[in-house]
Amino acid sequence: MANGKNLSLKRLAILGAGASGCFAAIRIKEFSEQNIEITIFEKSKEALSKLRISGGGRCNVTHNLFDNEILSKKYPRGEKELRWAFEIFQPKDTIEWFKKRDVLLKTEADGRMFPVTDDSITIISCFLDEIKKNKIKLVLEEQVSSIFVEDGNPKGKFVLQFGSDRVENFDLLLIATGSNRKVWNWMEALGHKIISPVPSLFTLAIEKSDIVSLAGLSVPNAAIRLLQKGKPQIGPLLITHWGFSGPAALRLSAFEARSLFDLGYKTEVEVNWLGENSSIEVESKLAKYKSDFKLNKIANQKPSDIPSRLWEWFLIKSGINLEKKWADISKVEIKNLTEVLTRSRFQMVAKGVFKEEFVTAGGISRKDIDFKSMQSKKINHLYFTGEVIDIDGITGGFNFQNAWTTASIAAKHIASNLT
Ligand SMILES: Cc1cc2nc3c(=O)[nH]c(=O)nc-3n(C[C@H](O)[C@H](O)[C@H](O)COP(=O)(O)OP(=O)(O)OC[C@H]3O[C@@H](n4cnc5c(N)ncnc54)[C@H](O)[C@@H]3O)c2cc1C
Repeated sequence: MANGKNLSLKRLAILGAGASGCFAAIRIKEFSEQNIEITIFEKSKEALSKLRISGGGRCNVTHNLFDNEILSKKYPRGEKELRWAFEIFQPKDTIEWFKKRDVLLKTEADGRMFPVTDDSITIISCFLDEIKKNKIKLVLEEQVSSIFVEDGNPKGKFVLQFGSDRVENFDLLLIATGSNRKVWNWMEALGHKIISPVPSLFTLAIEKSDIVSLAGLSVPNAAIRLLQKGKPQIGPLLITHWGFSGPAALRLSAFEARSLFDLGYKTEVEVNWLGENSSIEVESKLAKYKSDFKLNKIANQKPSDIPSRLWEWFLIKSGINLEKKWADISKVEIKNLTEVLTRSRFQMVAKGVFKEEFVTAGGISRKDIDFKSMQSKKINHLYFTGEVIDIDGITGGFNFQNAWTTASIAAKHIASNLT
């Protein structure tokens, strides 16, 4: 014993009792029951509060996707680092981990995975049981006011100050505070680069357009892109009372999070309602319909599984009489219809809300973290997990998977370096 401290016992402080902080604590104890005393400090009244409301209260725990390369492409920020991190812990491991604790997950048609109970409390109870069982200290409503790093301090290198006078020393510190400006400022002061945070995963509000009268309709495979920039995002697109939602719009909000922020969410978007079909392909398909379905009304014979009311809207926008037969469609009308189908333009005017899930793009620069250990490259024994890092995924359970993966890597490293 020195200074009242058992030399072989390491003290770890975890800031944040969210998904990644709790999971990291539990996993450390799984790898090493002894030689470590873990305290989780949570500033709010409740642990795992975001997890509780996640996925509309059902918690979309992970995604039914097991190819690490394809999986990593679901992260607009963090793809390269997670490609290898998933070799350590990926959705299969998540499913197995919960199964071992009698929490079974089910897969929905779009690949999202939820507890079979459809209730996030199942996940919370599992974590809180493990925390209790492993004697991990969970301190709620505890605000750290400052963090000092004192190399060589025999009481512990990390000095956490609570309020104005109380301090506690720790040998190891894991930051799992999600998106929190104050913590980023502290980490910046300790030499880390902070990538400026911007919102991700939101719907697109568009300028007044009569398309919103079709709110509730969706196409299964549309492509949407920023007109002035880029890469189209492909998938189901939902028309809402304000504009667009659904996987394709949410993907666009994630992959273009920073460009959209810089544009003040005011920009033109272009929709190809037939996904990856080019204008040339669509035009020749429509010309073929003219000869194949001569006697059918255009309004009744659609070239894809677009909802009928939307198809009629396209015809009206193209100046085509709804009573017209395919035989009577003119070349100009085919051109107009092709244009509407493949290059519909809308003025985005604001960022909309997506209540099921939202995340922050930005945070601790990935360049300042060693992803083999989740340890800071600037300060030894300082770890980062989850959304505090500049990593975020598209909607579908990928953000929690990032929390599980980064927490597992940190836990393994901490546990294997305890002597
Ligand atoms: C409404 C909503 C729904 C979501 N649904 C899903 C979903 O279904 N699937 C999915 O994959 N992702 C979902 N997400 C995203 C997901 O919740 C996050 O990516 C994930 O929670 C990140 O985990 P984390 O541990 O990094 O941070 P968090 O879960 O945010 O936890 C951080 C914790 O740190 C605490 N904290 C902050 N600062 C301090 C401090 N100074 N001292 C002590 N404690 C502090 C916070 O109070 C919080 O409890 C959703 C997000 C939202 C907002």
